[in-house]
Amino acid sequence: MFNYLWLEGEFPVIISEKRATRPHLHGKRKISCPFCPGNEDLTPNEVLRRTAPDGSWYVRVVPNAYPFVRPDNPDAYGYHEVVVETSEHNKAFHELSAGHIAEVIEVWGEREYYMYGDKKIKYVSIFKNHGAGAGASIPHAHSQIAGIPFVPPRVKYRLENYPPSQAIHIFSGEYWSVAAPKTPRFAYEVHIYPQVSINHLYEMKYRHRFELAQILKGILQRVSEVVDAYNVVVFTSPQEGNIPVHFEVCPRKNKHAGFELGTGAYVVPVSPETTAKFYDVDVVFRNVL
Ligand SMILES: [Zn+2]
Repeated sequence: MFNYLWLEGEFPVIISEKRATRPHLHGKRKISCPFCPGNEDLTPNEVLRRTAPDGSWYVRVVPNAYPFVRPDNPDAYGYHEVVVETSEHNKAFHELSAGHIAEVIEVWGEREYYMYGDKKIKYVSIFKNHGAGAGASIPHAHSQIAGIPFVPPRVKYRLENYPPSQAIHIFSGEYWSVAAPKTPRFAYEVHIYPQVSINHLYEMKYRHRFELAQILKGILQRVSEVVDAYNVVVFTSPQEGNIPVHFEVCPRKNKHAGFELGTGAYVVPVSPETTAKFYDVDVVFRNVL
């Protein structure tokens, strides 16, 4: 079965039994990694690559081999792609250079632009799962881009309510500011907001991407000191309507359990004030600049 439905008129549910057949490579031998150089034929035909002067690739984009939406399925229409962020199997996203991360952000924007060219695509979701505790099935650094045929509830809400909640300002660069939301769902959750008018990743200039990359690298390095799994979620403007591009970093330290499932309420063991102190600007940027 391959379809999407709305649960209780509120949450979309995409049924994708093929997802259950994905290989899980954590702790397995490197040779089976489909994202490593030499194994390119293990992925569907790539749609984009960034190449070094010696001809080797350092970023690739391929269709997801286990998509939950696809262009040839009218019942679950869309695009589901994987961005292989580096050719190095054991290098985490936050260990890449800021310049490299800035290129990954640029690639996200290129695919976002492509998907919004299809008017049936109503929203492009860009997200990164790092570590098995964050939902990653393959340890090799990658992110995902899903162009879907509906505007999800959280994005609809953001269209009316931006920024999403009161937040404690932590620090600002020239183009971006970092804040601890007053209503986090995860311990040490932080959000990154633009201070200039940017509604899509593809609208960013190099200077915007580079500063954002420095901030992401610094924050995620700090996160990796306390937990080995995190998600980065990108909010972009849907096909219709505008919201500023912004980012949520969700360290996966506390588990959502029965109370959260039964109520939609979250118990979070770290206060926003503690989170703000945790991302002290001198600590975050000690290994970045
Ligand atoms: Zn690999």
